[in-house]
Amino acid sequence: MHQCFIRIKLFLAASVAFATGAFCAAAPSPIQERADRFLSLVNASYQALYTVNSEAQWLAATDVTPAHDAASEVAGKAYAAFNGNPAIITEAKYLLSHRAELNELTVRELEHALLNAAEGPMTNPQLVADRVAAETAQASILNSFEFKLHGQPITVNQIDNLLESSTDLAERQGVWLASKESGKALKGGLIKLRGLRNGVAQEMGYHDYFELEVASYGMTTEEMVKLNDDFMRVLRPLYLQLHTWVKYKLAEKYHQPVPKLIPAHWINNRWSQEWSGIVEAASLDPFFKGRTPEFVIKSAEMFYTGLGFAPLPASFWKKSDLYPVPPGDPRKKNTHASCWHIDLNTDIRSLQSIEANPQWFETAHHELGHGYYFMSYSRPEVPPLLRTGANPAFHEGFGELIALASGQVPYLKSLGVIPADFKPDETAFLLDNALAAGIPFMYWSSGVMTHWEADIYAKNLPADQWNARWWKYVREFQGIEPAVARGEEWCDAATKTHINDNPAYYYSYAIAEVFKHQLHAYIAKNILHQPPQSCNYANNKEVGDFLRQIMVKGATEDWRKVLKEATGEELSTRAMLEYYQPLMSWLQEQNKGRPIGWE
Ligand SMILES: [Zn+2]
Repeated sequence: MHQCFIRIKLFLAASVAFATGAFCAAAPSPIQERADRFLSLVNASYQALYTVNSEAQWLAATDVTPAHDAASEVAGKAYAAFNGNPAIITEAKYLLSHRAELNELTVRELEHALLNAAEGPMTNPQLVADRVAAETAQASILNSFEFKLHGQPITVNQIDNLLESSTDLAERQGVWLASKESGKALKGGLIKLRGLRNGVAQEMGYHDYFELEVASYGMTTEEMVKLNDDFMRVLRPLYLQLHTWVKYKLAEKYHQPVPKLIPAHWINNRWSQEWSGIVEAASLDPFFKGRTPEFVIKSAEMFYTGLGFAPLPASFWKKSDLYPVPPGDPRKKNTHASCWHIDLNTDIRSLQSIEANPQWFETAHHELGHGYYFMSYSRPEVPPLLRTGANPAFHEGFGELIALASGQVPYLKSLGVIPADFKPDETAFLLDNALAAGIPFMYWSSGVMTHWEADIYAKNLPADQWNARWWKYVREFQGIEPAVARGEEWCDAATKTHINDNPAYYYSYAIAEVFKHQLHAYIAKNILHQPPQSCNYANNKEVGDFLRQIMVKGATEDWRKVLKEATGEELSTRAMLEYYQPLMSWLQEQNKGRPIGWE
């Protein structure tokens, strides 16, 4: 564990008192003065290089050309070389060895500087160069892999479309098997990267790469795994009911006997991470007919200004890239939605390709969640090194919270998107939401992904056991089995992008999901006094104040303390379970007489 938690708490009391002037007569320690000088230099350079790097990346993402790619690579290297500079690492480590003489904010800044350095510590330039080369090679295999179905090339979109639409199990199995081909090509690179990533972490004093990544939560590997196991334990009775209901529903759809475990190719998603398309729920698509993309983004901004947040800065509207490239325009842009904090100050931009439909409506609300988080913590009290989320999951969590709130029927009625007399089938909506967004995802993210990556990085699981371990976890956590037996010549984990390019990070999505539900439950119960499944945040300044008190802090305080102060709770799936609780009795009724689970 890289920081002592109890000690941080003691510091906090002292630093708060200092800030309020109670200790104003006490002179800062010589170590504190040395840290202040060091950090003013590091913060200024960090912000400057961050800005140059973001500008180059932004240009490369909004206008894809070889020249822009090359420029962004140069800027990225300069930024990484600054962060991993040996002089910064040595000085930060030295100052942290005197942490008792430093205030809490300083300790957090130094720890963040070291976490930034850990991705490319130039104390071992050869190791860093080897890792960059291996990461680049892996990304290139991943991005250019050509999938084939019966010898014919097939795109990822075609794979997903077939899995969404086909009711022919033989065809589904063929497509599912085709989607697993890339793992074979990626396995060698992943073995190499496991060694290099662990090497980089060890260079910074961590046991392995998983431990380095969970350090940004101030947690050990064991603590992170236990947290995720606790999430799943609380939700398990609900998951077992959903699993049973889906198993019977799909057996009926495909005219098959009911299996114990659900065959992976029966589910639309290639990894069974979301179970969409199973409930014939009312679609919101018709309500967006005749709306414009501008309506979508302006409604999203209005959601936040209604809560009392400031309008987006004029530069947002001038510099963002919000709509699809018009037909005939040769410019190519990245179509994945994102929000950017270009200068760690007021230059906030979003890259989207907004169309007037429910998916983009949700995405626009999500992306502005990042934007308003950036705006909230960009203030003099928060040094640039700490202008980030309280932990990586908080950023996604805010966006997801507003996306959830913006999709609720009372809000959509108040906005005039759906007619006042519209009567949704509430069970169908909630069931679809639980399957497509909520519950199976937890067993994928907290279960399979987190456990498998902890095994390969922290326990150095031999590569000839990777696939067996993967399917053991898929079976245990998800209740899913492969279409056909999978040997060690395959590496099915590596078919998932994040395993290759965002390693040991996936629990962040599970935490964001849980965090979102805790904030939402607090707001619904204590501020709005409305049922969490059906409420309306619109124009409620008290909701805005509640969110802002968390957002303005950035990473200046430990996230556990921030969460506890805001909601009175530790991180837990209690609120999530409560949200889906109305489904439980309905599912039990539907599943009456059926064997529950797969053991
Ligand atoms: Zn996001």
